[in-house]
Amino acid sequence: TKTEAIASAAVAPDLPAFDYSPPTYMGPTAEEILEKRKEYLSPSLFHLYKNPVNIVEGKRQYLFDDKGRRYVDAFGGIATVCCGHCHPDVVEAIVNQTKRLQHSTVLYLNNAIADFAEALASKLPANLKVVFFTNSGTEANELAIMIARLYTGCHDIISIRNAYHGNAAGTMGATAQSIWKFNVVQSGVHHALNPDPYRGVFGSDGEMYARDVQEIINFGTSGNVAAFLSEAIQGVGGIIELAPGYLPAVYSSIKKAGGLCIADEVQSGFARTGSHFWGFETHGVVPDIVTMAKGIGNGIPLGAVVTTPEIAEVLTRRSYFNTFGGNPVCTAAGLAVLKVIEKEKLQENASVVGSYLKDRLTGLKDKYELIGDVRGRGLMLGVELVTDRELKTPAKAETLHVMDQMKEFGVLVGKGGYYGNVFRITPPLCFSKEDADFLVDAMDLSLSRL
Ligand code: PLP
Repeated sequence: TKTEAIASAAVAPDLPAFDYSPPTYMGPTAEEILEKRKEYLSPSLFHLYKNPVNIVEGKRQYLFDDKGRRYVDAFGGIATVCCGHCHPDVVEAIVNQTKRLQHSTVLYLNNAIADFAEALASKLPANLKVVFFTNSGTEANELAIMIARLYTGCHDIISIRNAYHGNAAGTMGATAQSIWKFNVVQSGVHHALNPDPYRGVFGSDGEMYARDVQEIINFGTSGNVAAFLSEAIQGVGGIIELAPGYLPAVYSSIKKAGGLCIADEVQSGFARTGSHFWGFETHGVVPDIVTMAKGIGNGIPLGAVVTTPEIAEVLTRRSYFNTFGGNPVCTAAGLAVLKVIEKEKLQENASVVGSYLKDRLTGLKDKYELIGDVRGRGLMLGVELVTDRELKTPAKAETLHVMDQMKEFGVLVGKGGYYGNVFRITPPLCFSKEDADFLVDAMDLSLSRL
């Protein structure tokens, strides 16, 4: 069987057919690079290099290490590589633009920037059409928070516990997972109960969690707020789908309190949920500001804030610019990404392959008591491991072990959630059913070996 083939494969398991082998790698070894990493790069997250993999190439949904070994990339550079690694159309757009003009500035006109802004606006509800480019999701959320404060004249921001919004002062304040928080001044930020259907106090009752937001407005603010900021599906937080009914009720409370609703689409945007292009659409709400990054450039540093002309007006009160934000090479990549998503029907693929994968993972849940929950939408899926289904005791060590074992079998998944016991599956949107089968077989075998 395929599972046996995976188990017996010492170096190259029986991966789905893919006609490519990388040229022989002649560079330094993983150990040599690790030494440099240790000496010259930030010590943060160094513990991740327990069994270091030296990735030297990427093609579509596959990564290759220095020994020419292929991995199914089911993490997608943290939900970033949406069209697949080194997609030829994206590469071509980058190369062509690089040859023509690598950098301009906001002082001059350039069509690569304007064309992409127009294309991006066409993917959003009609009035959301003014785009500010940034270099990252953090910058996009910082700017969105600033715009909301300027527009409303209020300071209070409400975000959700277990959220991740970035790592600068304002966004780290809005982030609500202790592992990602340093000693930031969290002025004016309130964290609402997490509407988490699996672990949350009110289960799947979205309206009950929404009452908590209303109470924060009533008792924790002057009655007015600047903004409510949330992901549609929490990514770093462990693929948490907000309880149904939550966002519509919260948006209504926030609007009544004079605030703006900010949708953080850094992970859930760009067709990842399969059913919709944007995550907020899955909740039937329309935000006032949308922030995005990751998938927007297929891995090229790019982010954006999109809002209405009326709200955008606040930035004319002072001079606002960002040296690299909207660099023409990045926006050329962004335009190519939008075209590839459409041309290759990647949203439809995320929907079809995502449901197939979710069904197969749910099948594994019936087989292993250790799997407490399988959730998510499209190609943004989570599998939570618990040692006791009743108590939902996080199976942290087992999660690490299975993840390492899957890596041995040639499958890369991410890990997250407050307890670090959730597999995050966010592959490139060109992921196939064969890749999904391979992933599930590798997970099955890894679980069976615990
Ligand atoms: N918002 C969400 C939902 C994210 O997942 C992330 C990063 O993981 C960010 C914002 C921050 O983006 P960046 O790492 O590009 O600054």
